[in-house]
Amino acid sequence: RAKLEGKNSYKFFTEEMNKLALERLILENHLRKALSRDELRLFYQPQIDLKSHRIIGVEALLRWQHPELGLVSPDRFIPVAEETSMIIAIGEWVLHTACAQCKQWQEQGLSPIRVAVNVSSRQFQNSDLFTTIENALSATQLKPHYLELEITESMLMEDDLTQKNSSFSMFSQLQKKGIHIAVDDFGTGYSSLSYLKRFPLNTLKIDRSFIKDVCSNADDAAITTAIIAMAHSLQLSVVAEGVEAEAQLDFLKQRHCEMAQGFLFSRAVPAHEIEQLLKKFNH
Ligand code: C2E
Ligand code: MG
Ligand code: MG
Ligand code: MG
Repeated sequence: RAKLEGKNSYKFFTEEMNKLALERLILENHLRKALSRDELRLFYQPQIDLKSHRIIGVEALLRWQHPELGLVSPDRFIPVAEETSMIIAIGEWVLHTACAQCKQWQEQGLSPIRVAVNVSSRQFQNSDLFTTIENALSATQLKPHYLELEITESMLMEDDLTQKNSSFSMFSQLQKKGIHIAVDDFGTGYSSLSYLKRFPLNTLKIDRSFIKDVCSNADDAAITTAIIAMAHSLQLSVVAEGVEAEAQLDFLKQRHCEMAQGFLFSRAVPAHEIEQLLKKFNH
């Protein structure tokens, strides 16, 4: 049983709580050193244009290769990074690395593609994200329209439009520079859709939970169809996430979904493998 004593409270946990807390503490301590020890990597997952079948962009996905803990999934360490504000430094590294890589592919003479970077809400609550992005672009000389930011529905819902430093005004400025804004995991967040007409957005990414059974489940089919139709009437483009089967792809093409991403095409892979894929499919 947890027991609190005094101001610098010592906590006595049950064995299980102790184990979890310990794991979490180890993760946190190791994560603090991950950047300086060069243990973080970006992998890239292709996004396919469904009309041309070419790679139109890639999503940068973070990987942590720890010498003892092994490969730690972002679903485990991103939440820790967010709670501890380490996401600020990590997010900066991700932005810089993704922009540098995208520029490097262009300099290798490969057909230019966009790079999508996930940003968490903590990154613009606790830091000057706008300046971080400007710095990443100017340091790498990547043109802004090759950068896409993936944000979540909750980030838009939390925004206070009356604030001068609202994310609304920041996203407007970013979009004016040519940067794309995509809403990630669309459909899993809040029910209010009013933000869709207020915010400067370019793309909706349909969450993979809807795509999974889109061919067998009538509700998922209806939701996916509705999201695509709504996006199009709002002049937004659509990416379907988690496309694993040919039948899902056919469903999406019939509904004029613009782009798809998923294991059917490729998992997230190291940069040099994207190079090979670009040579093969975007010649
Ligand atoms: P996300 O942004 O929604 O990324 C898509 C996730 O779905 C990735 O998992 C990807 O590997 C996986 N995925 C892609 N295609 C398929 C498919 O066909 N089937 C299945 N079952 N899964 C597929 P991953 O790489 O483990 O990333 C998990 C989450 O961690 C991401 O979800 C994102 O929210 C977060 N994340 C990853 N990198 C970053 C980062 O640099 N910054 C931040 N803030 N979050 C990140
Ligand atoms: Mg994403
Ligand atoms: Mg997603
Ligand atoms: Mg996700």
